[in-house]
Amino acid sequence: MMALSTEAAERKDIPSQYKWNLGDLFPSDAAWTKAKDDLTAKLPELSKHKGHLGKSAGELLATLQAMFDFDLALSRLSVYASSLSDEDVRAARPREMKQAAEELGTQYAAACSWIRPELVALDPAKVKRFLTAEPKLGPYRMYIEETLRRKPHTLSAAEEKIAAEASDMEHAGSEVHGILANADLPYPTIKLSTGESVRLDAAAFTLHRQARNRADREHVFTAFFGALKTYERTMGSTLAAQVKAHLFDKRIRHFGSALEAALFQDNIPPAVYKQLLADVHRSLPTLHRYLALRKRMLGVDVLRYQDLYVPLVANVDMKFDPDQARAITLETLAPLGKEYTEAMRKGFGSGWTDYLPSTGKRSGAYSTGVYGVHPFQLLNFNGHYEDLTTLAHESGHSMHTFLSYAAQPYPTADYPIFVAEVASTFNENLLVHHLLDQTKDDDARLYLLGTLLDGLRTTLFRQTQFAEFELAFHEQAERGEPLTGENLSLLYLKIARDYYGHDKGVCQVDDLLAVEWAYVPHFYYDFYVYQYATSLVASTSLARAVRDEVKTGKTVRRDAYLKMLSSGSSRYAIDLLKDAGVDMTTSAPFDAAIAEMNATMDEMERILAKRKH
Ligand SMILES: [Zn+2]
Repeated sequence: MMALSTEAAERKDIPSQYKWNLGDLFPSDAAWTKAKDDLTAKLPELSKHKGHLGKSAGELLATLQAMFDFDLALSRLSVYASSLSDEDVRAARPREMKQAAEELGTQYAAACSWIRPELVALDPAKVKRFLTAEPKLGPYRMYIEETLRRKPHTLSAAEEKIAAEASDMEHAGSEVHGILANADLPYPTIKLSTGESVRLDAAAFTLHRQARNRADREHVFTAFFGALKTYERTMGSTLAAQVKAHLFDKRIRHFGSALEAALFQDNIPPAVYKQLLADVHRSLPTLHRYLALRKRMLGVDVLRYQDLYVPLVANVDMKFDPDQARAITLETLAPLGKEYTEAMRKGFGSGWTDYLPSTGKRSGAYSTGVYGVHPFQLLNFNGHYEDLTTLAHESGHSMHTFLSYAAQPYPTADYPIFVAEVASTFNENLLVHHLLDQTKDDDARLYLLGTLLDGLRTTLFRQTQFAEFELAFHEQAERGEPLTGENLSLLYLKIARDYYGHDKGVCQVDDLLAVEWAYVPHFYYDFYVYQYATSLVASTSLARAVRDEVKTGKTVRRDAYLKMLSSGSSRYAIDLLKDAGVDMTTSAPFDAAIAEMNATMDEMERILAKRKH
């Protein structure tokens, strides 16, 4: 065990068992530099068979092998450099290495840019013959099929060149918004009831909207949204510019809608998106039940939108050191079987994880990895309950990486974005249920149930509310109607009031709230946010199935889930989930997540009722 101090330590003082081991990638910086020079010398090999891809299966194979070998070697260089840089973001040398790896990445992309267009131009029947004739092409089948799938939306070489030039301009809206939101917007400074002065930028707003003191929350919302309101018109035109870029892509690539164009990238049927919206609408009574519970727990006469972020239950003091957190995580994941937990135990003890904060270390947490080596995860473990959750979350990603790397050839080892957050949030779900199973104290139980419930509220409902708004403003633009700050706000307010039951007296949503859309960067990401909701729907449903099954002694659902974790991107995301037992083209997984939300509220209401007596 080690004591956690509140003061950031120096990296050199942290015991090695709490650090990741980048030596597993390169023994020294000098070895890294040599590897980078060797790889740079291989760039010409990437275009050796240019113009000959259709000549023989052998030339196709040689090209794909060269490309994926290069890709893997490059990822090793990149992960080493960026991880080293994250250990101390102030250090110049790692930053230079990171930039050098990025530069090589750009050269690599340019050197391979001919491959996809040339492959698309081949006769699909011929490619099929190559695949049959040359078994060594097997690992590349998904890449080849994925490239050919794009054929109907691929343009002539000359047109593609113009499209590539145009794509440089596509990010103008998002870039201007980023500069305005992150640098230039004059955010207000307010004084809280504690006497503390805070400058309310987006990060401070996210923190202080959780204030226990209601007058502080009101003040925070009014000041922050008031500042945004001043820039409503400008923010409207930056978002409109971004939407124009999405519509440009949709038109030139012959898609029926911007939604279809965006979801095509990961081969997700647009019906999955629309169904999520319909499922959420059908389940608004569950959200309203949640809001009534919140009103009761906060003890307010009228619940307002400003009351939604203060945690339902004040933090119960739980403290863990990294060893305890590891032990709890391993116990938590026991339902996934010995093989899973043993691999994780080994990983915990062998340089996968950089646990503790230190001076200059990058903030936050993430998981990455290098094929043929192992996952690497960065944490800033401070010993709170959230840090335990983060360990379970990132370890979920890392085990997904580990299992896929172990089972897949490199070309299909990385998993699709649509399933990535399933493995992490699945582990978070098992964690909270494991802790609930062991906790008798009502206060602690209420706290745990409250965090589970708030997570479901913000992810299932809020992210879907965003997804609905995103679809609505794209459709507005597709109908040829202009997008302005004013009408975006009207649209946003209508959807927000609908969700929160403003007209039904469930939760009051003030006019000023209309401008909330203006600070959300996700609206520039082209139909990304809905995946937060679908991931949580899938993981909640899968975790429920696995937990239920444990009691029966069977392992069918568990094995199917583990198979998904081992499948990388060897199949499309929707098919991977279907095989694991969640069909995202139906409402069943969503209903399971809503059932969990209602069961959580049942239990919280039981505890609250007990207290009355
Ligand atoms: Zn994650």
